[in-house]
Amino acid sequence: MYLTRYLVRYKHPGYEIWLNALTGAVDWLSREEVGLIERTYCRQEAPDEEPLLTQLVARGYLYHDEAAEKRAFDELVDDHAEAGGVRITNQIVCPTYSCNLRCVYCFERLPHGDLPRKPMDRTSTSAALAAFSHIRETEPERNYSIGLFGGEPLMPNTRSVVSRILADAESNSLPVMIVTNGFDVSGFVPLMEQYVSSIMAVQITIDGPEDVHDERRPTAGGRGSFKSVAAAVDSLLEKQIKVVLRTNVDSSNVGRLPELARFAKARGWAGNPAFSCSLAPVKDHLHSGMIPNVTPEAELLSALLDVYDRDPDTEDLFGFEGFQMLSAIGGLVKQDQPSAPRVYHCEANYGGFWVAGPDGFIYACPESIGQPQLAIGRYLPELEIWTENREKWAGRNIRTIKACADCQIGPLCGGGCTYASLNDLSDGSRPVCEPGLIDAIGVFLQRRVLRSR
Ligand code: SF4
Ligand code: SF4
Repeated sequence: MYLTRYLVRYKHPGYEIWLNALTGAVDWLSREEVGLIERTYCRQEAPDEEPLLTQLVARGYLYHDEAAEKRAFDELVDDHAEAGGVRITNQIVCPTYSCNLRCVYCFERLPHGDLPRKPMDRTSTSAALAAFSHIRETEPERNYSIGLFGGEPLMPNTRSVVSRILADAESNSLPVMIVTNGFDVSGFVPLMEQYVSSIMAVQITIDGPEDVHDERRPTAGGRGSFKSVAAAVDSLLEKQIKVVLRTNVDSSNVGRLPELARFAKARGWAGNPAFSCSLAPVKDHLHSGMIPNVTPEAELLSALLDVYDRDPDTEDLFGFEGFQMLSAIGGLVKQDQPSAPRVYHCEANYGGFWVAGPDGFIYACPESIGQPQLAIGRYLPELEIWTENREKWAGRNIRTIKACADCQIGPLCGGGCTYASLNDLSDGSRPVCEPGLIDAIGVFLQRRVLRSR
């Protein structure tokens, strides 16, 4: 017998947790059971006489030989590649790269220098929308949504562009997701009301109670933005427009989440069916060292679990969704069943993003905007899709990167961030390993999954 390479073992006194990254299975085994398995696969005995071993074969821990495991791996990648073709594809417009806030961790201020400040005008908006329409016709089997992103997409000088995008989305029956810092949202509420049936949600960021938020997300003039942003959430909920409250979390604000949770409750947001929350660990994808307080995910997760243990209401509100590496096993907590492993790291790897920047280029990932050398096409002066560039993103998965195909947690990680991989001017074949990923998963299994059984 052959023991899968995708096995992650967490050893504890008296038992082990086995996580199968390829099948998503998680099992608790006694020392005796582990001994039996080890003896069997070392002696190359057939497992059929032993019910435990038969079960382990069924759960993908043991294979007849390495070739059988490879077939299971290929099947997984092929299934996901097929499903990727119909997953939601986000066509995102960035009306401007400018922003009215100066968030301390903003990736758009990173090494690629100053982004062009000129917002989209009538001509570029028409060209971007026409490009997206053409792409939808070319790949009609996909499901599409429209996104607004920036810079900050909702500012007084983007109003007419936003209005045209919402009208276009409505006429094409496409749902719209708006990602905004919320500072100028109040002035857009009447416009959003007009297109309420098209707006899937408005994502607004609040990073903690007022003092925390204001320190992390000041205006360009250095003032706090909390009060305006909180008022924006009020106005949207009043009109029953869905709000996703996003909190960018790192070691400096994780401990203040309960105060934000209490604020959301006192303000009447928590419990409103149109309101939900999501956490996003602050990342420095390019390892620039310019983003303060970036915390390794295992460490951040431990700190978050400490907070949640003390304050379960905060866990109920924020949960774990933003922890990307948990998404492949997160279903264990909620549904008590294995979740699908992932063969891609993110949407960019199945062509799930088309991002039109105000510079006339089209990008495959929202963080790569403003860097024409990473573009996958352009919509000005006319539409061009650069297939070879697109393939670097959309063709990248754990099978195309040798190190990831062999990696113990490959099907949980998905190969790491393509943007980071491409940024060193490689062809994207470099794996981008998050430090401490295995530890983080172990922490989560131990403190949540095990507890829930
Ligand atoms: S990026 Fe690193 S951790 Fe992720 S699958 Fe590849 S080798 Fe493994
Ligand atoms: S490629 Fe990296 S930065 Fe871009 S969306 Fe994916 S994970 Fe995020």
